[in-house]
Amino acid sequence: MTPPDARPRTLVTGGSRGIGAAVARRLARAGHDLVLSYRADAEAAARTAAEVEALGSTCSVVRADVVDPEQVDALLEAAGPVTGVVSNAGATLHIGPLADTPVEVLARTVELNLTSALYVARAAVRAMAVSRGGSGGVLVTIGSVAATTGAPGEYVQYAAAKAGVDAMTHGLAQEVARDGVRVVAVAPGIIDTTIHADAGEPGRLARVGPTVPMGRPGDPEEVADAVAWLMSDEASYVTGTTLRVGGGR
Ligand code: NDP
Repeated sequence: MTPPDARPRTLVTGGSRGIGAAVARRLARAGHDLVLSYRADAEAAARTAAEVEALGSTCSVVRADVVDPEQVDALLEAAGPVTGVVSNAGATLHIGPLADTPVEVLARTVELNLTSALYVARAAVRAMAVSRGGSGGVLVTIGSVAATTGAPGEYVQYAAAKAGVDAMTHGLAQEVARDGVRVVAVAPGIIDTTIHADAGEPGRLARVGPTVPMGRPGDPEEVADAVAWLMSDEASYVTGTTLRVGGGR
């Protein structure tokens, strides 16, 4: 639990836009100071940082490619003494049946969505575990409902990588449960960000939104609310589990 007199300090990877930016704004409203990382879009990162600061929190921005373990370690060092990490950076990269997916996309998808999550989780535990000099904290990993559905015809390689994120989350939570660190996953469904267009199908939200049981895509803010709750002391006995935020999907 966060000591009553201390402000939580949270790193959000991929915090420049989309779900990560919504999480940063939501955590700022909950009294967190923020560190945002991005890979390419410095302008978006600066915009989100300004929004966070306008909410009364401090916010620093660090460029780091999460597929590079040295950059991830340097990111955690630059972030300072964090009490929370949201491992959010990721992307679907390609939409289509596995048999038609270029082989290099398979490796890149696993690298960006699973290997990078292992790098971030390792560095986060090193920074937060009480036995390593940290003050404890919460690691939230962003998975996907695709880990459960398998995403047939769309991106089974991404689903497989996100299933790996769930397995990592559940195992790591048990490793560090007595070391002051909770580890939980949030699995979004179809959320209204540019991830779908970036993967090559601008109309995907309109196509898939109506197939969601609730009949619409989710907003990034609806994912951010779940992350904020999991990071709060209200979730102090919640670890090693995945919370789906998918409108019933
Ligand atoms: P966006 O594409 O909107 O944002 C992705 C963020 O990740 C950006 O800040 C981007 O920074 C950053 N990023 C991408 N690649 C790297 C990298 N190699 N190193 C560091 N940062 C990187 O995606 P979403 O907000 O939609 O997705 C966020 C997370 O949620 C992802 O893990 C995604 O898989 C997951 N998710 C999303 C769903 C959705 O429907 N939107 C559904 C289920 C899960 P920059 O702009 O600088 O490249």
